[in-house]
Amino acid sequence: MDYTELDRLVATLPRKRIGFYPTPFHRLDNLSAAHGVNFFLKREDMAGPGTLSGSKTRLAEFIIGQALREGVTHVISQGVYLTNSGMQFATACRVAGLTPILYLTRDENRHGELTEYRGNLLLNKIMDVELHYQPTRGGAYWDATDEQQKVTDAMNARKAELEAQGHKALIVPTGGAHPYGFVGHALTFKEMIEQAETHGVGLDYVYHTAGTGTALPGLIAAKLMTGHPVRFRSIAICGYQPGGWMNVEVIVERVRHILGLLGVPVPADEVIRAEIDVDERFIGEDYAVPSPEGVAAIRELAMADGVFLGPVYTAKGFAGLLDHVRSGRVEPGSNVAFLHTGDTGNLFEIPEVVGNVAM
Ligand SMILES: *Cc1c(COP(=O)(O)O)cnc(C)c1O
Repeated sequence: MDYTELDRLVATLPRKRIGFYPTPFHRLDNLSAAHGVNFFLKREDMAGPGTLSGSKTRLAEFIIGQALREGVTHVISQGVYLTNSGMQFATACRVAGLTPILYLTRDENRHGELTEYRGNLLLNKIMDVELHYQPTRGGAYWDATDEQQKVTDAMNARKAELEAQGHKALIVPTGGAHPYGFVGHALTFKEMIEQAETHGVGLDYVYHTAGTGTALPGLIAAKLMTGHPVRFRSIAICGYQPGGWMNVEVIVERVRHILGLLGVPVPADEVIRAEIDVDERFIGEDYAVPSPEGVAAIRELAMADGVFLGPVYTAKGFAGLLDHVRSGRVEPGSNVAFLHTGDTGNLFEIPEVVGNVAM
């Protein structure tokens, strides 16, 4: 299938325009010269509408597009207190005239008590988002199932309360992982391939930071639909082992969902699985805890080409890419695009999140 046909199929879905698309795509001239590969950035961090954006805005366009059709008035989402996704959904709600509500957790053993508003939380405050705050004690954010249950119960109770008052509420899971949204990143893939062509380049690899599994399914679906030979490499910021909260089978299922939604044939699971390559070596000590490689990556990209990564996601992802280049897993001369999914608001977080980026 060609890209016009992909566009046509996606255009049949409800969508509320929120971001500025296509997002920019450009070469990193200085970093490329230093490493002997052609680095490109796809700038989902510049998706808008605010200056600090990210990859969740694409999801929000489709989720909110459907929500508006269904008469939704309130969107309830959740995440860690510094969530990029939550902030982008709140922004999207404001654009669409819906009321944003966020349930936020904070591991106080790791990040201390909340004493000031910074980063994404500050932006949520400025937008006057209805914030519900739940301190947690220790443990990886994702795997604390009892804490998670408390949040789920609280969101369901708030939804019921709103609906008793005659409103209609939609709950969007962590990371914007709602089935209406996954198709959004098929468009990211399409834009990226077309933009690379205008540079006279065929991409060999697309790297990105993998967490809640919302960008990769759309990218894979579009690749399978169009038959492009590019390979995906995901650098994880949380575990992707079988049976874990996130894992390869979740991605496979979401790819199947997107293809089904667009009414195109779904290949065998092995075909989808073969597109997935997750490297878990760059998680560092824990989620939202800075890693030395991540700090070095933030500094290297900023000093080389003046682009800022965020400490929680994109720094760790880019650190993985740089490691693969240095070790030869990315062959010299390759054309590599890194999906800059955002996270720059987190540069203004507490030092326990940011690390020592300003040496
Ligand atoms: C959510 C997020 C990710 C991980 O995203 P998935 O595509 O859901 O795996 C990566 N980077 C940033 C900045 C994010 O906010």
